[in-house]
Amino acid sequence: MTELKIGHDNKPDPNHGQTTRKTVAHGVERSFAKAVSPSTPESLYKKRTQVYPKAVKGTYRSLKWFIMAILLGIYYITPWIRWDRGPSAPNQAVLIDFENARLYFFFIEIWPQEIYYITGLLILSALGLFLATALFGRVWCGYACPQTIWTDLFMAVERFFEGDRNARIKLDKSPWTSKKIAKKTGKHIAWLLISMATGGAWILYFHDAPRLLTDLFIGHAPQTAYVFLALMTFFTYALAGFMREQICTYMCPWPRIQAAMIDDQALNVTYRFDRGEPRGAHKKGETWDGRGDCIGCRQCVAVCPTGIDIRDGAQLECIGCALCIDACDDIMVKIGRPKGLIAYDTDANIERRLKGQRNQFNLIRPRTILYTIAFFGVGAVMVYSLLNRSVLDMNILRDRIPNYVTLSDGSVRNGYTIKILNKATAPRELRIDAMGLDATQMSIVGLKKINGQFILSVPADETLDYKVYLAIKDVSQLSDREIFHLKLTDIKTQENTLTETMFITGNPK
Ligand code: SF4
Ligand code: SF4
Repeated sequence: MTELKIGHDNKPDPNHGQTTRKTVAHGVERSFAKAVSPSTPESLYKKRTQVYPKAVKGTYRSLKWFIMAILLGIYYITPWIRWDRGPSAPNQAVLIDFENARLYFFFIEIWPQEIYYITGLLILSALGLFLATALFGRVWCGYACPQTIWTDLFMAVERFFEGDRNARIKLDKSPWTSKKIAKKTGKHIAWLLISMATGGAWILYFHDAPRLLTDLFIGHAPQTAYVFLALMTFFTYALAGFMREQICTYMCPWPRIQAAMIDDQALNVTYRFDRGEPRGAHKKGETWDGRGDCIGCRQCVAVCPTGIDIRDGAQLECIGCALCIDACDDIMVKIGRPKGLIAYDTDANIERRLKGQRNQFNLIRPRTILYTIAFFGVGAVMVYSLLNRSVLDMNILRDRIPNYVTLSDGSVRNGYTIKILNKATAPRELRIDAMGLDATQMSIVGLKKINGQFILSVPADETLDYKVYLAIKDVSQLSDREIFHLKLTDIKTQENTLTETMFITGNPK
C-alpha cells in the first residue's frame, strides 16, 4: 500500500494572520486561518480561540440556506396553524396543554395515560438519527441541529453588520469608535430580537397562540410564560451568539456517541488526502505531476464554523456542515483542477484508491439494514396502535380498606372507584355491566336506574369518577377472589371497553 504523508501548514500566525496575504497559485490567496485543533498534542486546558468563519458560496451553502428556511419556517409558523376538533377541544394544531394534561398534534390527541407514544416517538427519532449517521455521517449536526441553524442565522446577521471574516477581525482589534459601537449595537439588537422571537415561538406551543401573544403584550400572560420567554431568549442569545462551536465541541454528547454509529463505509465530509498530498503552493504553468492538488490556501479552514482543518483527518469538532467542500471546489475551479478534493467520501474508498481500485459506495450494509428495519418496525407499531387507539377507556381502583363488607342481609359487598376516560370530542352516555360474576347487585353513588339500567354520562374529552358497589347474596359457591370484568358500552355507538378486576368474597373455599 502506498504510504501518503499528510503535510501541515498551520504555521504560527502572529497577527491571527488574517491580514497577511500571499498568493499560492494562479491568483489564489492563502488564508492564514489557523485551525483551532491542530494535530499536535496540547495542554488539557484550552483557552478559546475566537473563530471568524468566512462567507462561502456553493451547492452545500445553498442547500443549508434552504434547509434553514424550511426548518425555521416550521418552528415559527406551527403554533399559528389551526385544527378544528369541535367545541370541546382547543383548535391549535400542535399544542402541549399542561393545564388539561393533553398533547395535541393535528388529528392525534395524547392523554397522560398514553405517554408511551412520546417514548415511541423518541425511539423513532433516535433510530432515524442512527440511520442517517450510518449513511451520511454527521448530517444532523451539519444541516438540521438547532444549534447549527441558529448559529448560522446569527453569523449571517453578524456578517450583515460587521462584514466578512477579515473585516470582523479588523473591527474586533480596532479601538472603540462611534462606528464600531453602532455596528456592535445593531448586531446585538438584531440577535436579541431573534432570540426573543425564538423564545416567544417556544411558549406559543404551550398555550393558545393568538391569545397568549395578546396577553404577553398587555401583561396578562401566566408568570411561567414570561419566565420561559426570558430563559429561551437568554439561551438562544448565549448559545448562538457567543458559545457557538463550543456547544458542539464540549457540551453536546452526540459527537462522542456517533463514533459507534459510523464505520469506514459512512459518507463523511472527507479531505481526499490520496489526491491532495503532498500539498504545497503552485505557480501557474508548473506541472502537477508528482504532487497533490492541495495548494495549502487554507480557504477550507477560513470558512469552517468550528475553526478546524479538515485536512487533519476526522475530528470530533467537525460538524459535517460541508462548507469546506464549497470553499475547496471554488479553489479547484480557479486553479483548473477537478472539484471534489474535499467531498462526501468514505475511509474505505480512500483505502481502495490507494490500492488502485475503484470507488464503491455501500449504502446497504448490515447496520443500515438493521436501523432501517428497526425504524420502520417501530414506526409501523406506532401507526397501527394510533389508528386502532380506543377513545373510550376505564381504570378501576378496588377498595382495599376494607377488602369487603358483609351486609346485614348476609350478602358480601365490594366497592370500586371507576375512572372513565372519554377521549372523543362528543359527550357519551354509557351502560355498565359486570361480566362473569353471577347474582350481582349493583349500586352507583348518586345515580338511579333508568329502565333497569344505570346510565353514566361523561362529557366530551373528559375524565369522570364514579363510585360503584357490587354485592353478592350467596358467596358459598365462590372462591375467595373472583376475577370478572366491568364493561362500559356507549348506548349510541355500541363502542365498548372491558376492564378486568376482582371481587373479594372472604370465603375461605
Ligand atoms: S484542501 Fe482545498 S481549500 Fe483546503 S487548503 Fe487545500 S486547496 Fe485550499
Ligand atoms: S471541517 Fe468542513 S465539514 Fe467539518 S465543520 Fe469545518 S467546514 Fe464543516
